[in-house]
Amino acid sequence: MTASESPEPLRPPGLDEPAHEPCRPAWTCAVCPDGTPWPCSPARVQLTEAYAVDPIGLAADLAAMMPRAADEAGIVDPAELHERFVSWTFAGAAAPASEVKRR
Ligand SMILES: [Zn+2]
Repeated sequence: MTASESPEPLRPPGLDEPAHEPCRPAWTCAVCPDGTPWPCSPARVQLTEAYAVDPIGLAADLAAMMPRAADEAGIVDPAELHERFVSWTFAGAAAPASEVKRR
């Protein structure tokens, strides 16, 4: 079996999943049912993969979204905002390189 027999190029897993993006101004997931708060679990996975080479950029971008989400969705608890938008990004960034590569 050679690579030329493959009908389509290899694609990373999860690429066919619909993008879990925020529905503003409610900041709920556009894909998950029942108004799941964004970023939902699949969104966090997709974001982590999209920012795999730039985990600090991920944290920075999500931190930049916080005040907008707080304003539009009426989230008044700073701890809730931090937990929802920023805290999980550090968990991914702090993972040892061996853990990330093993998958
Ligand atoms: Zn979702």
